[in-house]
Amino acid sequence: MRYFDSHCHVQFDAYDADRAEVFAAMQDAQVGGILVGTDRTTSKLAVHYADGKTLFASVGLHPNDKPQEGYDDAYYEALAKDPKVVAIGECGLDFFRPENPEAEKARQKDVFARHIELAAKVDKPLMIHARPSKGSMDAYLDAYEMLKDAKAKYGDRLQGTMHFYVGDIETTKLYLELGFTFSYTAVLTFTHDYDDVVRFIPRANLLSETDAPYVAPAPNRGKRNDPLAVRSVVSAMAVIRGEDEETIREALLTNAKRAFRLG
Ligand SMILES: [Zn+2]
Repeated sequence: MRYFDSHCHVQFDAYDADRAEVFAAMQDAQVGGILVGTDRTTSKLAVHYADGKTLFASVGLHPNDKPQEGYDDAYYEALAKDPKVVAIGECGLDFFRPENPEAEKARQKDVFARHIELAAKVDKPLMIHARPSKGSMDAYLDAYEMLKDAKAKYGDRLQGTMHFYVGDIETTKLYLELGFTFSYTAVLTFTHDYDDVVRFIPRANLLSETDAPYVAPAPNRGKRNDPLAVRSVVSAMAVIRGEDEETIREALLTNAKRAFRLG
């Protein structure tokens, strides 16, 4: 592997017509990655398509993609024990558009707490989706309170990655205290909103991802994305940090291997 896409969804319907070609193109370009589940079906499919060599799986229930689907502890625990599963999630808190804020926040916190317990039990890192409400860092701060308590209880068995990270420097300091990693998408190719934070995070705590099929890089914005775009994320990160692209590419691969304990 030369590149690692820490968070993508090639098991989604969006790839039904050409999934084999996408996987073959990843092989050719030496791009490895994690297929991330967002519910029962896509978690099971992630494990199905993972090969445990360059393609891995993460299993969990997204905080609000499918609010009507309850979290089933036994179902996810059975999947989580598969050796191809290298993370638990995506799970977390999404306060971007809560319809019934208090009840919804309580529901999300309950489901997130159960993912945290599972991650500690199977000793695999959390793949965290935290999205604050507009103009605030609320989801990051609430998630941190839960994770800080879990860290005190579980110690090193509690690890995690902040996927699609949009936090500021203050929230970054909190998550660095926990020893977490921060994953960036191709958003870096079309906005400079995160440049200061990307420069602030120690190189050893950075990861690259695409969140494909979402968030294609410039100049393909709006089109279906794919994991090969992780190369654009690496270039953008190198430019923002003023570092050599090869150095950052190698660091991101090493970080992913460490964070997800890949053979
Ligand atoms: Zn995702």
